[in-house]
Amino acid sequence: MPDATTPPVVIENAYIVPVAGEEIPSGHIVIEGDRITAVGPGPAPSAPEGAERVDGAGCLATPGLVNTHHHLYQWASQGVTPDGTLFEWLVASYRLWARMDAEVVGGAATAGLAWLARSGCTTSTDHHYVFPKGRGDLFEAEIEAARQVGLRFHPCRGSMDRGRSGGGLPPDEVVEEADEILRATEEAVRKYHDPSFGSMLRIAVAPCSPFSVTGDLMVRSAELARSLGVRLHTHVAETADEDEHCREQFGMLPVEYLDRLGWLGPDVWLAHCVHLTDKDVRRFADTGTGTAHCPSSNGRLGAGIARVSDLLRAGAPVGLGVDGAASSEMTPLAGEIRMAMLMQRARYGPRALTARQALEMATLGGARCLGREGEIGSLEPGKLADVALWRLGGYYDGVDDPVVAFAYGQTPPLARLLVGGRTVVADGELRTVSDQAAAEAGARAHRRLLASDHF
Ligand SMILES: [Zn+2]
Repeated sequence: MPDATTPPVVIENAYIVPVAGEEIPSGHIVIEGDRITAVGPGPAPSAPEGAERVDGAGCLATPGLVNTHHHLYQWASQGVTPDGTLFEWLVASYRLWARMDAEVVGGAATAGLAWLARSGCTTSTDHHYVFPKGRGDLFEAEIEAARQVGLRFHPCRGSMDRGRSGGGLPPDEVVEEADEILRATEEAVRKYHDPSFGSMLRIAVAPCSPFSVTGDLMVRSAELARSLGVRLHTHVAETADEDEHCREQFGMLPVEYLDRLGWLGPDVWLAHCVHLTDKDVRRFADTGTGTAHCPSSNGRLGAGIARVSDLLRAGAPVGLGVDGAASSEMTPLAGEIRMAMLMQRARYGPRALTARQALEMATLGGARCLGREGEIGSLEPGKLADVALWRLGGYYDGVDDPVVAFAYGQTPPLARLLVGGRTVVADGELRTVSDQAAAEAGARAHRRLLASDHF
């Protein structure tokens, strides 16, 4: 965590894209404590005493990226059913996930968060919804991993209470009782949620999806979140199968169902939202409901292409997410900028989404989804010093526009990644935990989950 010992940092000579405000072709960013204190053209007029000077020549400075949807534990189950539909993949994965414990979750989260940091992410959510009994404190394990890697973290206490015997998709062995879910969720919020400006840890309430959670738990979860002042998150409208399931079970489409349960609003952000009607798009905009767009995962599972440009045009908040590593296989967050842009254009034409709009989704759009647009998502004095400095020399020098160089091609290496003024990545390497240790933690988690003999 950033503290009084974090030295001030002065970045100069960088091409700065503040996201909010004009781009600065060669400028400075001054960081003191966990805040940005100055952003402007040319060299910094003054530097705080003891500041570290970072030469940003040949670099692009952007706000740190915000990941709005993930399932970190899935790092341990990558490569399962690589060619299946969502429901086939889920059914194959549930049995494996029923065997995870705190050690698996801690190792998977360390690798997953380290991987995110290496692709420019400074704030990540996580949606954890499988809590097998007697396997240790899974939620605490991922929170500890985020502390070690040094990212701002928004873990969502997920849940499933609608097993196969209740008409749901997951096997009964991986679901919990509604009362126990609500008790554990409230406990997690009271124990960990920090609402203060600059918070490194906030909790959200996140039942898994309409096809694995009862309507009763959805309603009670929303009441609990609103009484505690925390946000709500779930999956919705991911695939055509889900439309069919909701029509059969509830007699309506997924978003309409959520709306009836009180699940649209400015305190809600929803993963995927691929299959939306025109009315759904308007409801999202009217209610301020956010979307976590996960283009690689949607492509991997053949779910479809979300109506992102329509949502943006309507004024609804949209952020980017990598989704669980088992449905997108090691997707880097910066790569989702390119994927979002290309998928929108493939479906809606070349002007559907620009590189700068996609970058805004990955930063300020994500911050809006998390209710933190006053703190993160743009480079402005007074905001938190979450900064990504991308090295655009070498091969990237041949591209005239640095934002195009950054967004269209392979993601450039990070010269520096700062979270609240603290260096998490320097010269392409992690500086909080080592890359080797993080990668080994992920591999160990994978082996432990696959080896059934210790259970
Ligand atoms: Zn997901």
